[in-house]
Amino acid sequence: MGVIYEFKCSRCGYELEAWLGSGMLSGTITNANKHKYSKGKFGEDIRAFFDEHPDGILSSGGSYVFKCVECGELSCATEYAIFLPKDDKTLPPAPPHTIFLFPQCPNHRPYKNFVRHYEKCGGKLAPVHDEWSETPLECPRCHGTLWKEFAGVWD
Ligand SMILES: [Zn+2]
Ligand SMILES: [Zn+2]
Repeated sequence: MGVIYEFKCSRCGYELEAWLGSGMLSGTITNANKHKYSKGKFGEDIRAFFDEHPDGILSSGGSYVFKCVECGELSCATEYAIFLPKDDKTLPPAPPHTIFLFPQCPNHRPYKNFVRHYEKCGGKLAPVHDEWSETPLECPRCHGTLWKEFAGVWD
């Protein structure tokens, strides 16, 4: 079950509607949320990775509020990560800075989060808020604090 929140700034009127969580998809890897890499959607380094690791999978891990590290703009998007089978002998160590937002899977382990870029400025997007987060978000316009209001559920 995913949760919908409205984030609102009482100072400048900024609003963001965010559909957070996973809907019908649990965080574990199932056929429903398993994607083989396809069609260039995820970029060249992901393509190269799957050329080397054909049994790797790309899995969605639910939706989060992301913040652009360049311009501070907030947006809502689905997070993806690359997983490899636990018995993969070629599994390289995960990069130390990697943040995993994914629950554990019995057969796979996470290798790397897919890095998103904000379409308007090209800046890197960092996940900053999920459905359980209690830390308030900062307004990207006036730097006030955003109010978080429950607005419903999805799936
Ligand atoms: Zn930006
Ligand atoms: Zn504001």
